[in-house]
Amino acid sequence: MDKGRTQELIQEVIDSLLTDNSFLNMKDQPKREEIVQSAGEILKTTDKIIKSYIRVSRENGGIERIPAFRVQHNNISGFYKGGIRFSENVSEEEVENMAILMTLKNALHGLPFGGAKGGVFVSPRKYSERELNLISKKYVQRFTPEIGPTYDIPAPDMGTDERIMDWMVGEYKTIHPGQSYSGAFTGKSEEMGGAKGRRESTGIGTFLSYTYLLTEWLKAYTNGERDLNSKRSSQLETIQRLRDKHASSEAIKVNVQGFGNVGSVAALEAYWDENVKHEVLAVSDQFVTLYHPEGLNIEKLNQYARESHELPKTEAELAVADVEAEILDAKAVLTMETDVLVLAAIEDQITEENMKAVKADVLVEGANAPINVAADRYMQKEGKMIIPDILANAGGVHVSYLEWKQSRVTEVYDKDKVLEEMAAQMRSAFQKVYDEYFYGLGGHTVRFICYKQAIERLVTLMYRHGKLY
Ligand code: NAD
Repeated sequence: MDKGRTQELIQEVIDSLLTDNSFLNMKDQPKREEIVQSAGEILKTTDKIIKSYIRVSRENGGIERIPAFRVQHNNISGFYKGGIRFSENVSEEEVENMAILMTLKNALHGLPFGGAKGGVFVSPRKYSERELNLISKKYVQRFTPEIGPTYDIPAPDMGTDERIMDWMVGEYKTIHPGQSYSGAFTGKSEEMGGAKGRRESTGIGTFLSYTYLLTEWLKAYTNGERDLNSKRSSQLETIQRLRDKHASSEAIKVNVQGFGNVGSVAALEAYWDENVKHEVLAVSDQFVTLYHPEGLNIEKLNQYARESHELPKTEAELAVADVEAEILDAKAVLTMETDVLVLAAIEDQITEENMKAVKADVLVEGANAPINVAADRYMQKEGKMIIPDILANAGGVHVSYLEWKQSRVTEVYDKDKVLEEMAAQMRSAFQKVYDEYFYGLGGHTVRFICYKQAIERLVTLMYRHGKLY
């Protein structure tokens, strides 16, 4: 999903709110429409885009100037918040799209944050530890007037981790002596005040977005516990088919693209799940897909990947990992036989080129924007259940909120408490979205419902703040 499509979808929601007189119930209809249109203009544009070049002196000699960005989209619902990505795919447009998605995600999940995102055009694998340390510190130096615990709070994203957040906090502290610094970044190590469970939170939340639907939500529906009409959709039938598999003790098959923070944890959740029997048939990273028809040993793969930062890609490395698997092309994971496909790598992975070959019935977006517009439309018509990024991958920002909170009250929350709180908050967002999707007016995708619920909150806040005159 590119920036243009994100903006189009925002406008589609705004158009639907224009005809919904119950939203911002006002006697003066022309005024109400003007207010809603104005909010659309604000949400489709970005507050601030800052671009800089980071100067790095390489260990093997020479100087490089690396493009770096911080994009602040909107802060009506709270301080700007969003990860920093180190990747060779970083571009201004992509970072801006991610910042818009952060605004929507935080609003959808009722978090008191706005949306921002950062990016550095660099492949971490090609730089030494010292060079990465320098890049991280320079990033803070360049963007320091824009960052702070009560203004804009970065976190890790693809290619960055707790080590990099710790370095950034260290630099922030040096630049701002005597000021509060711990809440300026989330996703830090526990020693530096990071929340316990932050690393696992996005993967756990991503997998929960699907299992919640399959078990808790569907159970309430099947038992008729809620007053629901008999409206059916092919997506509901898709989920019920999986539920029937589960009821007959047949394993539900899962494939996971991406084996980093999000993908490896989502795969482990499937592997360990005690409530529903799952088999993880295939996992991938940017170099390989590993496949086993009876299920991979995810625990052993995880152990290997934690140490080497990638999956085994040769027979010899598989032997070191003590895992049996067939080695396939990195993209194979997307179109192999499975019930559920968790997308936890990068954007634009399912497009016109491969959408017809996708076999999974359920697609869960752990990554941001992994399915492009055409593929989204096509697969929706095919009856596939797509759980969108802003709903599925918010576990990390929920825990970031707890980390930010604990840094302000100088407390440390227990890991179980952190993950329970995250899951409880996510469940309530899932229930609200799935209820409206399956039992609302119909004709919309889950993504549209997520955008609608987020935008309703944002427009209401802008109106209450008196920003729409
Ligand atoms: P990571 O860097 O830990 O892992 C990324 C994984 O994707 C690695 O296995 C890598 O090999 C693989 N990958 C990279 N490029 C690829 C390519 N071209 N083709 C196939 N695989 C490729 O990153 P992460 O933190 O796990 O984030 C993954 C996705 O989830 C990103 O889109 C990120 O924006 C999103 N996300 C992450 C978090 C978080 O808390 N980490 C929160 C929300 C969303």
